[in-house]
This record gives sequence, structure tokens and C-alpha cells, in this order.
Amino acid sequence: MLLEGKTAVISGAASPRGIGLATARLFAAHGAKVAILDLDEQGAKEAAASLGPDHAGIGCNVTDLDACRRAADAAITAFGHVDILLNNAGVTQPVKTMEIDEASWHRIVDVNLTGALYLSQAFIPHMRSRRRGSIACMSSVSAQRGGGIFGGPHYSAAKAGVLGLAKAMARELGPDGIRVNCVTPGLIQTDITGGKLTDEMRQDILKGIPLNRLGNAEDVAGAYLFLASDLSAYITGAVIDVNGGMLI
Ligand code: NAD
Repeated sequence: MLLEGKTAVISGAASPRGIGLATARLFAAHGAKVAILDLDEQGAKEAAASLGPDHAGIGCNVTDLDACRRAADAAITAFGHVDILLNNAGVTQPVKTMEIDEASWHRIVDVNLTGALYLSQAFIPHMRSRRRGSIACMSSVSAQRGGGIFGGPHYSAAKAGVLGLAKAMARELGPDGIRVNCVTPGLIQTDITGGKLTDEMRQDILKGIPLNRLGNAEDVAGAYLFLASDLSAYITGAVIDVNGGMLI
């Protein structure tokens, strides 16, 4: 039980096959109370109920700073305090540079990058007042190697921005007792990617993955658990690759 007595907020965790909900399940199994924040309010409530009675489901659009503040108030009121924030919500779009229009640029950057800033801003005052907290942000291998199958250049840019944001926040907030880290998954089988891979694409991708399999949501949940728990008490500003060795 690595999170006994701790409380966690996870954004983008309503999707049944997603990384967020797999992480919520793992955190709950390790003794945490979890608040699931998602654009899909009903889905967030159902996902929280599926974890048991101690958890909360809260509707929140992470691109709206006021909504993030309201969600933070609701989570803090429900649990009394919040120890862990995972900026996990994200959206992607598989397009090429010349196909990116103003609306798609802003949508991808707003959800993936601005959302991580706004939700962090909503929780930092609370964490500062307690002089403790662990924030983990969701980046992607797309940021490190310039794209992938499912993410366009705007997605790579937004996820690279998340790396910079997390490191800058880690430097600034370390003296306040708040750690900030990142995970950079490779190809993980969820609704973002699921069902869209042909056998030929899969075989081609596997040639570049030394562990010879695609990732699953639980693989990423394990990295989030490490960063959320006191096992990583002296780690901040770090980036954990969860990609089967794709970048070796
Ligand atoms: P998913 O689609 O299953 O989950 C994404 C969740 O984010 C959904 O529940 C969705 O409702 C929520 N969401 C979308 N916009 C939102 C908003 N404005 N406010 C609040 N919630 C919002 O996808 P997933 O694969 O579990 O993705 C989780 C995170 O992991 C994303 O940030 C994604 O970019 C990242 N990621 C995924 C992979 C992969 O291969 N699946 C790889 C690297 C990074």
C-alpha cells in the first residue's frame, strides 16, 4: 500500500480503457482516495463509483481556468486535502503540418498544454499551504521524437510544451515542498489508439520496440504510482519513458 491516507486528483480519467482510469484503479488499490476529473461528467461519476464509495467524480473542462478552480474546491472539500495531481487529460489528431487550422491548433494545445497549466494553478495554492504535493504531467514520445502515428505536429508541440512546463514548475515549486515530474509513454493501447492499427502497422511498429509489444494503460499507471508515492520523494523535474525501449 504505497498511497495509504493519500488523496489524488486525476484529469481525463473517465474513459473506460484509458490510462487515467487504470491509474485510478491502481491508486485506489494502494489505499488512495481518488477524484476523477473529466470533460465527461457522467463518465467521471460512473468511473469513480466503479472504484468504490470513497472516491469522487467531477465534471471539468481543463481548458477553463474557472472550471479547474471549481473542481479543485470540490476535491478539497470532498477529501479535506489533496496530495497528488495527475495532469493526464489529452486529445490528439493525426494530421500533417499543412492540415492544421487555427481551431485544431488551439484545441490540441489548449487541452494538452494549457489544461496542465490551469489545473496545476488550481491546486498549487493548496499544496503550497501544506508544503507538500506531487504533480505528474502527461507528455508523450511524440514530443521526444517529433510525432508518431496518432499525433500531429500540434500534438508533438503541445506535449513538448508539457515537458518544459513540468521542469519549470519543478524548479520553482521545489522549495515549497511540491515535486513535479512527467511521463512520456510510447504507443499505449487505449481509445486514442485502439482499433485504429492494422496488422501491418502493428508489425512495423513492433520492429522499433525492443520489448516487442505495445504498451497498456497499466504500464503507464505503474510509472504514475511511483511518481505519486514517497518512493520518489527525492525525484523532481524527471521524465520517465514508458515506451518499451522505443528511444534506445
Ligand atoms: P483517452 O482518450 O482514453 O483518455 C483521454 C481522456 O481525457 C478522456 O476521458 C477524455 O474525456 C478526457 N478529456 C479530453 N478533453 C478534456 C478536457 N478538455 N478536459 C477534461 N478532460 C478531457 O486516452 P488515453 O490514451 O488514456 O490518454 C491519456 C493521456 O495519455 C493523454 O494526455 C494522451 O495524450 C496521453 N498519451 C497517450 C498515449 C497512447 O498511446 N494512448 C501515448 C502517449 C501519451
